[in-house]
Amino acid sequence: MPLRMILVGPPGVGKGTQSSLLEARLGAKPLSSGMIFRAEIDAQTDLGELAKSYIDRGELVPNGVTIQMMLKRLRTSEVQQKGFILDGFPRTVRQAEALDEELRKAQIDLDIVVSLEVDDQVIVDRLSGRLGCTKCGAIYHRLNKPPKREGFCDNCNSPVIVREDDNPETIKERLRVFRENTAPVVDHYAAQGKLVRVESSRDPEVVYADIVAGIGS
Ligand code: ADP
Ligand code: ZN
Repeated sequence: MPLRMILVGPPGVGKGTQSSLLEARLGAKPLSSGMIFRAEIDAQTDLGELAKSYIDRGELVPNGVTIQMMLKRLRTSEVQQKGFILDGFPRTVRQAEALDEELRKAQIDLDIVVSLEVDDQVIVDRLSGRLGCTKCGAIYHRLNKPPKREGFCDNCNSPVIVREDDNPETIKERLRVFRENTAPVVDHYAAQGKLVRVESSRDPEVVYADIVAGIGS
């Protein structure tokens, strides 16, 4: 059975890292709303231009366009076959309700919603040093996990860069936006009995093992 799951958590909690591990080992398709927006920005589409004005300020892109963009990807045959790992979506209760409705119509059941949780200080340390691959999305850290060759991705050799929204001001705003808009999404899925909370300040492999245990339970 294809895996269908959601990863929720504040910026920098490790959603991207876990999503890559889950893809590599369980074969589900990662759908990261942030990565999809950044691809739209790079391709200079109208959606990209609109999204950029919000992302640069640490604000949420409006629900309407975000929901449309993500549901379109959920409907692809690849995702139907492989299942999905949603990362960064849903980020508001409105988005969660739109997703619920879409899955209900398609008669698809969510397997699990994982809430990754860490202290705010850990987030600030992680984000202000984070480096991301411009091509494959691999994530590094200037101090804790530098790429083997400075400035280039271990996997695909493309340049690794600091994201524009990983600056102290925007990080603070993203944390505020998370608490206000996304924390209620966690409650939304807890009420559906789908939620598993995983403490995410530990080694990624330990976090991964907890997630897999959650899927099995
Ligand atoms: P992080 O989780 O580290 O904040 P993401 O890559 O998930 O980073 O998101 C970066 C930015 O993209 C967010 O700050 C927000 O502006 C926008 N974004 C991503 N997903 C959504 C969403 N589901 N709804 C609205 N805006 C979003
Ligand atoms: Zn890469």
